Amino acid sequence: MIEPQILDHPKDLLLRKERIPHIWCPGCGLGSVLSALMDALRTSGLDLKNVAVVSGIGCTGRAAGYLNLDGFHTTHGRAIPYATGLKLANPDLTVIVFSGDGDLAAIGGNHLIHAARRNVDLKVICANNFNYGMTGGQGGPTTPRLARTTTTSYGNVEKPFNLVQLMAACGASYVARWTSAHPHYMKIAMGEMLKKEGFSFLEVIAPCPTNFGRRNKLRDIKLLQRYLEQAVLESQPDIAKADIELDSPILCGKFVDLERTSYLAALREAISAKVKVYDFRGDGRVPLEEAPVKPAAAKAPGKPAEVPSERPIIERPVQIKLAGLGGQGIGLCGLIIGRAAAIFDHNQAVYTQEYSPEARGGASASSIIVASGQIHAPYVTEPDIMVVMAQGAYNKYQKDVRPGSRLIIDKDLVRPKDLPDSVRIQAIPATRLAEEIGQKVVANIVILGFFTALVPHISLTAMQKALKGSIPKGTEELNLRAFETGYDYGRGGTSDRA
Ligand code: SF4
Repeated sequence: MIEPQILDHPKDLLLRKERIPHIWCPGCGLGSVLSALMDALRTSGLDLKNVAVVSGIGCTGRAAGYLNLDGFHTTHGRAIPYATGLKLANPDLTVIVFSGDGDLAAIGGNHLIHAARRNVDLKVICANNFNYGMTGGQGGPTTPRLARTTTTSYGNVEKPFNLVQLMAACGASYVARWTSAHPHYMKIAMGEMLKKEGFSFLEVIAPCPTNFGRRNKLRDIKLLQRYLEQAVLESQPDIAKADIELDSPILCGKFVDLERTSYLAALREAISAKVKVYDFRGDGRVPLEEAPVKPAAAKAPGKPAEVPSERPIIERPVQIKLAGLGGQGIGLCGLIIGRAAAIFDHNQAVYTQEYSPEARGGASASSIIVASGQIHAPYVTEPDIMVVMAQGAYNKYQKDVRPGSRLIIDKDLVRPKDLPDSVRIQAIPATRLAEEIGQKVVANIVILGFFTALVPHISLTAMQKALKGSIPKGTEELNLRAFETGYDYGRGGTSDRA
């Protein structure tokens, strides 16, 4: 007897077989769409190691898990932002978004239109079944007028999105529509999308017999048969006639195929024209082309960076919070402290900012954590040191001043009250000193110098280097004078409980 030979199906390589059988209902169109995609991928010539599939929530969301490719099954409506991040972080990837009408056009509707507007290099396949299938058949953004769903039991009265018109109007490079009864044309369209630069969009009208079909008296295979009858295939379809009504023809074909500058291409062009790369290793911030040594030659491979002898050893993470009003330069001070600790002292630092809705004048804060070892949580919860430059900021953040901590203030602008005795207050007339130097605007740098004199966690040299690298050209002299003024004031020891 001849032993039967079991051959792999050509598509098996693209499926995670351990996840099969799938969960899709009998008669659902999603399997045909996925199958067409597998065919398009197999014949695309792409290295499938460089293909990623992102899906949203809903019945289509399963696709990313069924495909034996790198995949993301994302949160509801967020397939496009995830996919955009993937593509921008690794432009070599071909990124496919496989999702449904509710996920892409309702919950993720803004992401969809803006990705098309930006012409982000994504291949978006939208399986449009005219309802939210997985959650019980509610009406969605593409439900045709008069169609019945669980939420439109008298027939839908809303005008649905015409997805191909929407995508074309937003500026997509490629827009097509087929039904899941047209596997050959779906595959061709997907193959074209895989080669296309910029934003490509394919709408596939796919039956959901379980919910949409049942409520519209088109159970089982009847819904697919209906789409096959309704479909009108044209080589140059007129997008103005692409509306879908419950019983109208469904115009299929390729509506848009344009060469437009993709988002990535535009970004690359802008970056190569505008961006200066800076070298922070030496004496402050030096444009890379002017730096004395090229980064690759800066140290032998594997040789650790030189650690300054005066590097402060910070045994446990120290939490620092700076607070003031918008426009006082609180953010810049935080940035300088973080850079000094991380880049020049070779410690670890994390930096976050918070600010009021007002552009200027509202209380704002920047938070830094510094440590010699790892920092496991990025947020300042119990500041060891607080620097406050305005009464409004003090009123807002006083709750953060904890017993035993250090509070550094501008003595003319902040009147601390209701504090435990164990809080160590250190004060400097920073704004007044800045005015004496000639510019009130450098009060933040005066207080930064004061902070450096009092706080042992960041070295003076590191702070000076970070300062020099962080201020606009032409202001070095003023800022360094402000810094020294504050530093000398702190060294003078005249500051406690002023
Ligand atoms: S509920 Fe509808 S869309 Fe979901 S698997 Fe079943 S038929 Fe397909």
